[in-house]
Amino acid sequence: SCGICVEKCPFDAIEIINLPTELEEEPVHRYGENTFALYGLPVPESGKVTGILGPNGIGKTTAVRALAGEMIPNLGAHEAEPSWEAALDRFRGTELQTYIERVQADDVTIARKPQYVDQIPSQFDGTTIELLESTDERGALDDYIDRLGIRPVVDQPLDTLSGGELQRVALAATLARDRDFYFLDEISPYLDIGQRVTAARLIRELAEEEDRAVLAVEHDLAILDLLADTLHVAYGEPGAFGVITDPKSVRNGINEYLTGYLSNENMRIRPGEIEFHEHAPRETSKSTPLIEYPDIRKSYGEGEFSLEVDAGTIYESEVLGVVGPNGIGKSTLAKLFTGALEPDAGDLDFRLDIAYKPQYIEIDQPMRVDAFLSSITDDFGTSYWKTEIANPLQLDRIMERNLNDLSGGERQRVAIAACLSEDADLYVMDEPSAHLDVEQRVQATTAIRRYAENNDETVLVIDHDIYMIDLLADRLMVFDGEPSEFGHATKPQEMRDGMNDFLADLDITFRRDERTQRPRINKPGSQLDRKQKKQGEYYYAP
Ligand code: ADP
Ligand code: ADP
Repeated sequence: SCGICVEKCPFDAIEIINLPTELEEEPVHRYGENTFALYGLPVPESGKVTGILGPNGIGKTTAVRALAGEMIPNLGAHEAEPSWEAALDRFRGTELQTYIERVQADDVTIARKPQYVDQIPSQFDGTTIELLESTDERGALDDYIDRLGIRPVVDQPLDTLSGGELQRVALAATLARDRDFYFLDEISPYLDIGQRVTAARLIRELAEEEDRAVLAVEHDLAILDLLADTLHVAYGEPGAFGVITDPKSVRNGINEYLTGYLSNENMRIRPGEIEFHEHAPRETSKSTPLIEYPDIRKSYGEGEFSLEVDAGTIYESEVLGVVGPNGIGKSTLAKLFTGALEPDAGDLDFRLDIAYKPQYIEIDQPMRVDAFLSSITDDFGTSYWKTEIANPLQLDRIMERNLNDLSGGERQRVAIAACLSEDADLYVMDEPSAHLDVEQRVQATTAIRRYAENNDETVLVIDHDIYMIDLLADRLMVFDGEPSEFGHATKPQEMRDGMNDFLADLDITFRRDERTQRPRINKPGSQLDRKQKKQGEYYYAP
């Protein structure tokens, strides 16, 4: 076993990733006897955005600490005093030589955006603008505030901001600095697609126009594709060892990752391929309706946000994707369905048991994961439950930990498991991709789909990761309107119509990668972009 699973491998006997023979050389860094070892380093380059694609716990932060000069890599000799001279010897003649020389001369300054923006308010006491002004080293702050749309919240205390607002504030605060090297650990959590695309553009501008080096970790593959010039794939065994490959082209790096095989390295990182389909799924003649709901209206009060939902039908055992910008009423609809909110118009007379995973997960009790999950389902610990839920979500290793000690990704997996473990008619998941690394997204997607298929369950998934929605959803419900003012939801539609509705509103088209059929965002105004818009085909090949 690879150490992840309790009994049998949910991914059909995953191959154990052994240390490849060519890496039997010493690592770049090892923390101590029998502790994590890092092989390889990414190469920051002025004027370029370098991406890293790989799971959490694989050594990305360790690599950045070395590249920032905060830690001298010990080349595996953890007992001895490390030196930059030795490190430089190791990288002489490689693409890193010049960079390491500069680090040695203490000539590299760095700005970084942390992964977990939720923790910022506990580290900074004050208003948003107070934090931001302290970072305005290039005079670019005002422009960032406007383009990231955070002007309305600048006078608010940080601890009143939503996750998406904090993410954009953190990004502005990082990009506004005047440094040589910028490290961004995930830009997409809590942002909607429009905001993700804007963030990617701002980062590219900083690299290109200001000639800075940017290193970015990103788990939303459509955004990573847009963001990076070159890509390092990171693989290994999280917590044990990590290998950072030589740079690849972004297209090849993502394709190799999706096919599960790194060709230069001759390394299989996953048994199976992740497949996308160029053409929309055939319209299915759906079976039994689970709910037929009427037109719904809900307002939070005079002059407050209001929502209109077109009448529609949700069928049994389908996975319904829900897409739309932030602040448009998606969570409000979920709450109407769960009965937590009462509609102003439209009688929701169905009596359904709904299991709900909220966007922000507050399970901060000093309770162990196993105790928490066994309090939700009697199936806990059965081989059925392990195969369907615990193994695909990699819960085995964290069962004995306390809920309040979990990382963001661990907490997300427990919350998804808790939701699926409930006995319910409808499972509603709000942004299950948040804080999951790219491999965990693949596994969570597999787990949710399999669960729905094997158990004839109906799932409603709200998410901004287009790859995840593509792999998960049978049909789509699309929200549009004016965020924070009013929202409108279409009835559930076939994938092609839904994607066209959604992307036309965003003015974004996707082409297909020839090798993997994965969707790639078209350059605005490119020939394909213009052609597809004219044809009204924003996502699937006509
Ligand atoms: P990532 O950024 O990819 O999530 P990190 O570089 O933070 O990964 O960590 C990689 C591994 O190194 C983790 O297993 C972590 O526990 C371990 N690690 C990080 N810092 C130390 C340290 N100072 N001593 C021992 N182990 C560490
Ligand atoms: P989404 O899930 O699409 O991001 P929400 O349904 O959470 O959107 O929120 C839609 C709008 O309603 C937002 O502007 C939000 O601030 C507002 N809102 C949410 N809950 C309340 C409430 N209890 N009272 C007043 N306004 C609210």
